[in-house]
Amino acid sequence: GLLLPGAASLAQTAAPAPSANASIDQRVTALLAQMTLEEKVGQLNQYSGREVTGPASDRKSTLLSSISSGKVGSMLNVKGVKDTREIQAEALKSRLKIPLLFSLDVIHGYQTTFPIPLGEAASWDLDAIRLGAHVAAREAAASGIHWTFAPMVDVGRDPRWGRVMEGAGEDTYLGSQIAKARVLGFQGEKLGGTDAVMACAKHFAAYGAAIGGRDYNAVDLSPQQLWETYLPPFKAAADAGVATFMNSFNTLNGVPATGSSYLQRDVLKGQWQYPGFVVSDWGSIGELVTWGYAADKKDAAQKAITAGSDMDMEADVYSQNLAQLVQSGKVKMEVVDDAVRRILRKKFELGLFDDPYRFSDEKREQQVLADPQNRAAARQMAKKSLVLLKNERATLPLTKQLRRIALIGPVAKAKRDLNGSWTVDTDTTRITSLYDGLRQRAGKATEVLYAKGCAVTGDSRAGFEQAVATARNADLVVLAVGEAWDMSGEAKSRTDIHLPGVQEELFKALKATGKPVAVVVFGGRPLIFDAIAEQADAILYAWWPGSEGGLALADVLYGYYNPAGKLPITFPRNVGQIPIAYNQQYNTGRPVTKPGDIRYKSAYIDAPSTPRYAFGHGLSYTTFKYSDLKISRPQLKAGESVQVSFTLTNTGKVTGEEVAQLYLRDPVASVVRPLKELKDFRKISLKPGKSQTITFTLDPNKLAFYNNQLQWAAEPGTFNLMVGSASDDIRLEGTVELQ
Ligand code: BGC
Repeated sequence: GLLLPGAASLAQTAAPAPSANASIDQRVTALLAQMTLEEKVGQLNQYSGREVTGPASDRKSTLLSSISSGKVGSMLNVKGVKDTREIQAEALKSRLKIPLLFSLDVIHGYQTTFPIPLGEAASWDLDAIRLGAHVAAREAAASGIHWTFAPMVDVGRDPRWGRVMEGAGEDTYLGSQIAKARVLGFQGEKLGGTDAVMACAKHFAAYGAAIGGRDYNAVDLSPQQLWETYLPPFKAAADAGVATFMNSFNTLNGVPATGSSYLQRDVLKGQWQYPGFVVSDWGSIGELVTWGYAADKKDAAQKAITAGSDMDMEADVYSQNLAQLVQSGKVKMEVVDDAVRRILRKKFELGLFDDPYRFSDEKREQQVLADPQNRAAARQMAKKSLVLLKNERATLPLTKQLRRIALIGPVAKAKRDLNGSWTVDTDTTRITSLYDGLRQRAGKATEVLYAKGCAVTGDSRAGFEQAVATARNADLVVLAVGEAWDMSGEAKSRTDIHLPGVQEELFKALKATGKPVAVVVFGGRPLIFDAIAEQADAILYAWWPGSEGGLALADVLYGYYNPAGKLPITFPRNVGQIPIAYNQQYNTGRPVTKPGDIRYKSAYIDAPSTPRYAFGHGLSYTTFKYSDLKISRPQLKAGESVQVSFTLTNTGKVTGEEVAQLYLRDPVASVVRPLKELKDFRKISLKPGKSQTITFTLDPNKLAFYNNQLQWAAEPGTFNLMVGSASDDIRLEGTVELQ
């Protein structure tokens, strides 16, 4: 087998993890003792409930009778106090009256829609991200939901993969911090709280590393990369107390994650002593058959439960096969018991046995959903998520001196698009478009003209003429372009991530008028745009900013809020450069002997080796100076920490926030290390002319990596320390030596 960290624990199987709360364990044990095998298997089943609240159908009556006879442990996609209460009442008709868990994909908001997770990650603002998850949890909990299938903590380094929109981007350190913030936001301090839902770290593991960015695909990954890049955000979520894990559709080195004992038993429940439960991904237990890993559904059930998949989402494989497998001795009762225990424990922790309706009532639901604070938080988060990629000649912020602004483009008046993929709320009247937001902010001083110009996709240029005429009539153009909301997300991988359709041509036509053009780009992933990158006067990357997005954009365009977002993922120049994550860059064996001669470097002959926009990049309406780097000691011994401090000064004319970033390189090691790795960051607000000293503590853990023996260790020698404003904008450098 593979030599992998934790290999020593391979012998360790599913020992029930120690409980934080003995009385809950006693209650679980007492309940388990009363359960028949059928009732136990029932707890391991989860079904989607779209039909159960719909019109009469065969599926509906089958589901209802399964629920009332104790054959279902959880439902997904049933929401709202009325429906969840009604279905919970069915579960309470069962012999043991074990309540159902209601789960839903509350990914970036419940009713109030926050920016997509990748956009939130661009804020690098852990408090705001935590608050966003908290608001989503509060709304969802008031609406009868117990459990969200979030956060997605998959590191995403391939912008072709449609699901990069659901994660925190390409970096492991940033992703781990955000994983923790989201878990704490969703769950609060204690699971039983009124405003909390259970979180779910997904998709375990390495889903984002699929070949070619193709969704649901195979993953072939070195143990080093798995442990160093892909697992840490999961570990961070587990350490933050995440109640559940979801396994994954992909294979990992030939084994489907859903059937992987290595991932679920050895690493998660063994080495990490994880006490929560693992839900499969949608139908993924059945897919063990389609992968060619199980002969049939019965074999799939045996393999998945043995590997540690506790709950079967929607495959109906456990319900059909598990009891027989136990009866025939192929699956041990203890294995089933362990899965049931893990699930029951969460039901107790949530307080469901004390109040199966979890204080849900329609009046409270209405009050919570109408709370204006939720929208205020979403607007604030949206502002923080925006990234100013470019701003020539201070084109932005807009001033009240502008008499007319031409707002042009297919996304200018869009509403549904602003919410992006994975939204719960379907009421588009709650969404403020960029057009509406800009009109509010422009007030009476400035007239906002509008022309659509073209559609997002398609090749019609019929609207160009009117768009150009509108631009000529104005002092400045704001062009709103992007991909459509459903061009990223699950099953939305793309081979071509250019701005679709004729949008770049529209830009060129507008630019040719000679008017300044500020471009707002919307999308669920890094998009490629050449003419805009090269010729636009300003570019603001909006991701999908959520229901308050139009207002947030207007706040930023007009300078009521100074943008401070930084890219959490690299923007390539072309698809051929992918993968191009910042810390996948190495010094190659062939140094550049002639400056500028790209043949001498590990590079392409037809494009630069640099990305269009680097990880960590993002401008402000002000400027910052970095100075006075101090490293608390030149040398340190194993186990010691070092302080890295410097002075940050706002050298511009307006208040602004900066995300100062600390990178490290280990230039000589037993395993070749990347040129840069993010180790810490701090977001600071400074008034013009003001300075602040910032101190990062580099503990020994931050010098460590998986060495050539796959041990997590720091190797003696010199380390390069870099502090800067982006991964390609290092302002201060120093070294420290580990003895
Ligand atoms: C996705 C999961 C999601 C589940 C339930 C699956 O297709 O991969 O992320 O939680 O569906 O909707």
